[in-house]
Amino acid sequence: MITEECINCGACEPECPNQAIEAGDEIYVIDAEKCTECIPVYEESQCAAVCPVDACVPDPNHKESREELEEKYKALHGE
Ligand code: SF4
Repeated sequence: MITEECINCGACEPECPNQAIEAGDEIYVIDAEKCTECIPVYEESQCAAVCPVDACVPDPNHKESREELEEKYKALHGE
């Protein structure tokens, strides 16, 4: 998820392997249905890695196991 610390720099949007990030009305937003925390493409969430204000953080309301994230990635990409 992206917190209200977001300064709308746009750095995270192109880094997402699932195109889960887009500009919202006030700040950038992550579609939790598309977010796999970058698993299995990367071991680290790329949005969190590039965000200059550490606004990309794990969403406590969307905890998923690695297996669930891998299955989600496959479903999203038709694998
Ligand atoms: Fe907002 Fe951080 Fe994304 Fe920039 S990288 S748009 S500050 S969440």
